[in-house]
Amino acid sequence: MLPITSTPGSLFIVAAPSGAGKSTLVNALLSQEPQIKLSISYTTRPPRPGEQNGREYHFTTPEDFLARKAQGEFLESAEVHGNYYGTSRLQIEKQMRAGTDVLLEIDWQGAQQVRKQFPDAVGIFILPPSIPALEERLKKRGQDEPHIITRRILAAGGEMAHSPEFEYVIINQDFATALSELNAIVKATRCRFTQQSARNSALFAQLGIHANPN
Ligand code: GDP
Ligand code: ADP
Ligand code: 5GP
Repeated sequence: MLPITSTPGSLFIVAAPSGAGKSTLVNALLSQEPQIKLSISYTTRPPRPGEQNGREYHFTTPEDFLARKAQGEFLESAEVHGNYYGTSRLQIEKQMRAGTDVLLEIDWQGAQQVRKQFPDAVGIFILPPSIPALEERLKKRGQDEPHIITRRILAAGGEMAHSPEFEYVIINQDFATALSELNAIVKATRCRFTQQSARNSALFAQLGIHANPN
């Protein structure tokens, strides 16, 4: 599949070690910016208390997941903390062509796969203020078994080692500050020449502006 560039919609990839506050930040962003759509991943992880099929994830079995993968349904997929996760290709391409911004909450392995197909995707990595804070947040969230929390904390270093692959880094110490930084990245991305000109092609033509003046 050829890389997709110059769609009016932007693609954001948000990654973080478990517990850094990625989902909380993303949900707060989406409530301020309803025009961004969150991609709902498929996962074989069991739902946490309060999670609903089709809202946080499409929860499925390993058999169903692997069948979808074999049919080429996923833009990317990866095994994370012993479960499969994958992003459905169809929905994302449709939304981006229609000018909708799409946000993926995926791990670094998935981010590498997506960048190959969407070179203009904007990568944002969320860091915790410290490892003890990360541990504290995972425990306080209280939604994972202790052995799962341990596994996720042990994986955090390996995940953060991939943060240099991302264009932006947010340190989620003070939540309000981190949220305003995330918002600023989204707003700046929307002002990129390629996005503005794709969204406002009639105006740009009227003003005599062409993408490649040479
Ligand atoms: P969280 O770490 O508390 O957000 O826990 P989750 O179980 O929701 O996510 C586990 C890991 O899987 C995280 O690193 C996510 O970013 C990653 N993940 C979620 N959805 C996808 C996906 O569609 N594709 C890939 N590659 N990774 C995903
Ligand atoms: P992730 O999606 O990265 O695994 P969550 O968004 O579920 O992380 O956040 C983990 C926990 O940390 C949640 O209980 C959340 O309320 C809390 N949290 C998020 N950001 C902050 C912050 N800046 N300060 C303190 N606690 C936070
Ligand atoms: P959780 O199980 O706590 O919801 O997520 C654990 C990790 O899986 C997080 O780092 C999350 O970003 C990642 N993840 C969730 N969905 C996907 C996905 O569709 N693809 C990839 N590659 N990772 C995902």
